[in-house]
Amino acid sequence: EPQRLIDPEKRGEDVEQSLRPQSLDDFTGQAEARANLKIFIEAAKNRGEALDHVLFVGPPGLGKTTLAQIMAKELGVNFRSTSGPVIAKSGDLAALLTNLEDGDVLFIDEIHRLNPAVEEILYPAMEDFQLDLIIGEGPAARSVKIDLARFTLVAATTRLGLLTNPLRDRFGIPVRLQFYTVEELEGIVRRGARIVGLNMTEDGAREIARRSRGTPRIAGRLLRRVRDFAEVARAEAVDRTIADEALTRLAVDSMGLDQLDLRYLTMIASNFGGGPVGIETIAAGLSEPRDAIEDIIEPYLIQQGFIQRTPRGRVLTGRAFAHLGLETPKELEA
Ligand code: ADP
Repeated sequence: EPQRLIDPEKRGEDVEQSLRPQSLDDFTGQAEARANLKIFIEAAKNRGEALDHVLFVGPPGLGKTTLAQIMAKELGVNFRSTSGPVIAKSGDLAALLTNLEDGDVLFIDEIHRLNPAVEEILYPAMEDFQLDLIIGEGPAARSVKIDLARFTLVAATTRLGLLTNPLRDRFGIPVRLQFYTVEELEGIVRRGARIVGLNMTEDGAREIARRSRGTPRIAGRLLRRVRDFAEVARAEAVDRTIADEALTRLAVDSMGLDQLDLRYLTMIASNFGGGPVGIETIAAGLSEPRDAIEDIIEPYLIQQGFIQRTPRGRVLTGRAFAHLGLETPKELEA
C-alpha cells in the first residue's frame, strides 16, 4: 500500500534537516510556547542551572523534535536523542543517562511508548539525578546508586492520555503544541521555497499552506511534490494554478484532506447516518489501527470542526456533510 502523502509521521527525508529552523527566532508559529520557552531558557542560563524537564504534547509533525534541538542549541549544551520504543531495557537507558554532562538535553520521542520497567529507572533519574540499579540476581543481588549529571529531559508525545500520572507529574514544563494557521504555514512554505531555490508566487504558497493540514511536516512534503510537478511541467514559477493542479493530482483536496480522511468522513456519513459511532467500529470499518486514527486523522478533523467527540462516539458536523456535498440529516441539525 502506498504511503499517505499527507502522513505527518517522519520518514527521514534529508530535506527535512535543511528546512529545520535553527533558533527560536527562526521558528514560525507556536507563539505562546516559544515565548514561555524563551523565558525558561534565559532564567536557567542566568542561574547556571539545568532547565527543568520539558514535555511537548501534540500531533506528529508540529515541531516537537525541532524545538527540542533548538532548546539545546540556545542553552549551549549537547543534544542526545532517542525514542520510547528504541529503549528496550533499563540498561539501555542507564547507558544513555550516564553519558550525559551537566545541562545536557536528552530528548525522548514517543515517551508514551516507554517500557514500564524502563520508566521506573527514569523517575529517580529525573527527580534526584540518580540511577538505582540492581546488580546481580537472587540473594547476591544488591542495589547501587549512581549519581548522574544534572540533565534536562525533553520528551515528546502525541497522546498525553497514554502517559502514566507519575511520569506526567515529573515534567516541570508541559508545552502543548497547536496546529498552525494558514498564514504561519504560508511563511514556512515561502521560507522552504527560498531554501530550495524554487520560484513561487504568493498565491502559490498560500494554496500549499491551505492544504497542509495545519502541519509543517506536511507543508514541506507538499512543497517537494509541487516542485517536482513544476519542474516536469517546466513552469517558471509555482503559482496557485500549478499548486492546485499538482495537489489535486496527488488527491489532496481543497481543505488538505486526503483519501483516508474522506473515507473516514464518508463512512460515518453513509453507514452510520453521521453518528454517533464508536472508535473501534470506525477502526474496523477503515481497517486502520485505532491509534493511527486517534493520533493522526482525528485531531485535525476535530480542530477543523468536521467531527465532534461525544461520550457516545464520533459525530459528523454540518460542515463535514457540506464538505462531502451531502445534506445534513435532520436529527443532526443543531
Ligand atoms: P514532530 O517532532 O512534532 O513530529 P518535527 O520537529 O520533526 O515534528 O518537525 C517536522 C518537520 O517540520 C521538520 O522537517 C521541520 O523542519 C518542520 N518544522 C516543524 N516546525 C516548523 C516551524 N515552526 N517552522 C518551519 N519548519 C518547521
